[in-house]
Amino acid sequence: MYGSGVIKGMLVTGKHFLDTYIEDIRYLGRRSESFATRQGVKAKGVFTVQYPEERLPVPEEFRFIPFLVYEEGPEGQRLDRCTSCGICSKVCPPQCIWIVRSNNPETGRPIPEPIEFFIDVDICMNCGLCAEYCPFDAIKMDHDFELSTYDRARTNIFNKERLSRPVAYYASIRPQNYRREESIRAEKEAAKASKPA
Ligand code: SF4
Ligand code: SF4
Repeated sequence: MYGSGVIKGMLVTGKHFLDTYIEDIRYLGRRSESFATRQGVKAKGVFTVQYPEERLPVPEEFRFIPFLVYEEGPEGQRLDRCTSCGICSKVCPPQCIWIVRSNNPETGRPIPEPIEFFIDVDICMNCGLCAEYCPFDAIKMDHDFELSTYDRARTNIFNKERLSRPVAYYASIRPQNYRREESIRAEKEAAKASKPA
């Protein structure tokens, strides 16, 4: 029949319209709990997340700007995992990582920790290669994407202080990755300890 397609389309639109209100009633008082369903493949009707008042959780593998992981010593001191080996800056495709190394003035040997570490976050393309290649699990991809600023020229080159985060933060945003790496580390240490001296 001529125009049947238009009628079918209107019925589908009407169903979505009604579903929106039925789902609103169904999830009354449980709005934040409903995000996963109402933004997923089982969604019915139309649902808008009221960002920034509301936020969708990001998946563990979501990546934005890298950060440097440090351990906390027994007296709360910051122990960098980064040894300033420079691998991350070599593999970084747009070359947006700069590392400042230093030598021990007495021995002349390199100190295995960077005195400065910079990432130009305007150039970083969030590829995650630095984190993939780091042999010391010292650089990881952050979930924090809310980095807008009024002062791009000075604030978008992150220094070591700005980039550093405790290992507990890493464990909180990437728990599965953290557990996997810790178990690999424990296995390696056990294998090393079991070798005859
Ligand atoms: S973050 Fe990793 S790869 Fe980059 S300099 Fe430090 S230890 Fe090396
Ligand atoms: S995420 Fe990619 S572009 Fe950004 S610093 Fe790491 S390697 Fe470079």
